[in-house]
Amino acid sequence: MILHVCEVCGADASFGYGAHLRLALQKLAAGDIAAAKLHLGKWYFREHRPAGGESLA
Ligand SMILES: [Zn+2]
Repeated sequence: MILHVCEVCGADASFGYGAHLRLALQKLAAGDIAAAKLHLGKWYFREHRPAGGESLA
């Protein structure tokens, strides 16, 4: 399991936005770390979720 931390406070984050884990893992497997991070999207702690965003949790 991939660990995510909040973009705001660094706490464990369980709400992801713009994440494409399958693509990220494919990029990681190919050694393209920058592209993998891009596909991991942004993650937030519950209280720090952006309003109106799409949650993948
Ligand atoms: Zn936070």
